Amino acid sequence: TGGGGNVPIERPQVKFQDVGGMDALKEEIRLKIIHPLNHPDLYRAYGKPIGGGILMYGPPGCGKTHLARATAGEISAGFLSVGINDVLEMWIGSSERNLHEVFANARDNKPCVLFFDEVDALGARRSDLKHSAGRQLTNQFLSEMDGIDATNEGVLILAATNSPWHIDPAFRRPGRFDRILFVPPPDLAARAAILEILLRGKPCDRIDFLSIAKKCEQFSGADLKAVVDLAIEAKLQEALKAGMPKPLTTADLLAAAPKQRSTTKEW
Ligand code: ATP
Repeated sequence: TGGGGNVPIERPQVKFQDVGGMDALKEEIRLKIIHPLNHPDLYRAYGKPIGGGILMYGPPGCGKTHLARATAGEISAGFLSVGINDVLEMWIGSSERNLHEVFANARDNKPCVLFFDEVDALGARRSDLKHSAGRQLTNQFLSEMDGIDATNEGVLILAATNSPWHIDPAFRRPGRFDRILFVPPPDLAARAAILEILLRGKPCDRIDFLSIAKKCEQFSGADLKAVVDLAIEAKLQEALKAGMPKPLTTADLLAAAPKQRSTTKEW
């Protein structure tokens, strides 16, 4: 990620079909972001306002960033991500100009998904902020967001946080983050779907995704990725010894699962 206005815009290749589970979230993003972009006249005809963003919250590693990137891929939009380090730089440096440049960069590259990871860094309750620089940054973020309706059509704002309770209530006003969605750890079916996505295109025997998912109670998408990586590493060793590719099996993944622990429980 990078902060300033000159950061190259990413063109994600991943789409919703590369995101396991999250069906309700995908639908919400279609309704709130994708349909208004493609059919603005219809929305206007019914007086449904266009604009505003979606704030996602939940335990780490459960696909918030992945889904934001896939949203951009789904509509062939650009993707611009602002992470915690960018915000810290804004705090130290010429913060106001930077944040403005980020929005300007997105506007110049419409349609563009503008993703704020750990948005609580930008939107801590102003009463919690002892530093006026932080208050200024929050205020500027809000006014840039308010520009969405008029000047920012085609700029689609998504944000993620692990701690929504730290976010300034002003963020939730209509036209700002008026949709706040919980991203839970994937359920059994979603875990099976994620495993299938992670193994797409790899040498595999017929794999029983459901039985592996059952051994991965409370695992995040990131945890599942770690399981798959472990299984692949072991398999690669075998293949190297044999001097030929060996397909991954259900047993390989079942052996890898207990080596990884769920990282969603502490949240
Ligand atoms: P954080 O709060 O730490 O930023 P996050 O919720 O944004 O976490 P991601 O970074 O999106 O999580 O997920 C980490 C990785 O796990 C992704 O790059 C992806 O490979 C995999 N992953 C997570 N969720 C899914 C999913 N639903 N479908 C497919 N892959 C997933």
